[in-house]
Amino acid sequence: MHTDLVAALDIGGTKIAGALVDREGRILARAQRPTPAREDGDTVMAAVGAVIGDLAASPLWERAGAVGIGSAGPVDASAGTVSPVNVPGWRDYPLVAQVRDAAGGLPVALIGDGVAITAAEHWQGAARGHDNALCMVVSTGVGGGLVLGGRLHPGPTGNAGHIGHISVDLDGDPCPCGARGCVERIASGPNIARRALENGWRPGPDGDTSAAAVAAAARAGDPVAVASFERAARALAAGIAATATLVEIDIAVIGGGVGKAGEVLFTPLRKALTEFATLSFVRRLAVVPARTGTDAGLVGAAAAALMGRTDAAVAGV
Ligand SMILES: [Zn+2]
Repeated sequence: MHTDLVAALDIGGTKIAGALVDREGRILARAQRPTPAREDGDTVMAAVGAVIGDLAASPLWERAGAVGIGSAGPVDASAGTVSPVNVPGWRDYPLVAQVRDAAGGLPVALIGDGVAITAAEHWQGAARGHDNALCMVVSTGVGGGLVLGGRLHPGPTGNAGHIGHISVDLDGDPCPCGARGCVERIASGPNIARRALENGWRPGPDGDTSAAAVAAAARAGDPVAVASFERAARALAAGIAATATLVEIDIAVIGGGVGKAGEVLFTPLRKALTEFATLSFVRRLAVVPARTGTDAGLVGAAAAALMGRTDAAVAGV
């Protein structure tokens, strides 16, 4: 049988999604389970196994030649293990070996979720055709990944491009990661909302204090909401400019819930980039919204599996 498909798994703190994907990135079969994130590691793995079992029940399964996993991080692709912050039952958990067993011995490629979304954006989204790109997810946290020289650059452990935890404020607030003034500590959705509330913004009658509600207030002209987005935009711009200066990217793609805020984010972000990205070789840097949607994690995991069949460095196993 010709193995022209791959199986993809997108493992996060709330759901485990699976799919069978063809070489054009089309999803031909799907499965999904909630993540029992507060349970022990074996229980979480049982949910992953159930997703694989659902996919294996498809008549298309016999055409799958590899499995790609995009997992909440940190991951260690070189060891085949994951330690997702939001899944405490998994610490240095041997996910690659477990999935290989559950999938009948198929080869398994593991990447972090930020790298997976980068793979999806490079394959099918806003970074398509760009050989040097930074792709970011700005939502509850801030993650990212890099395309360098036309290829996904996951790094030795699969975490390269994790822009959320580079510091852009040396004396800034402590970050849960242990550092200070990280991009995530300033620009994530919860931190945008927290700062707006601390500075006197109040939600409407529905009590919605999400970053999306702050974005709506900013669009309506609320100065505190505008200022909170401007601060997030400056943090993102500083991180993007640093990345561009280090490795010469020509585009930064921003996805995730905060990335959907539109011009209340992108207008101050582009303005701040002109302040931070000043050298000749980074001045033409473009910053654009992501184009892939809710399937980005699955599509990116599939891309990793397809690359892993010809590139052991990406396979990480
Ligand atoms: Zn941090």
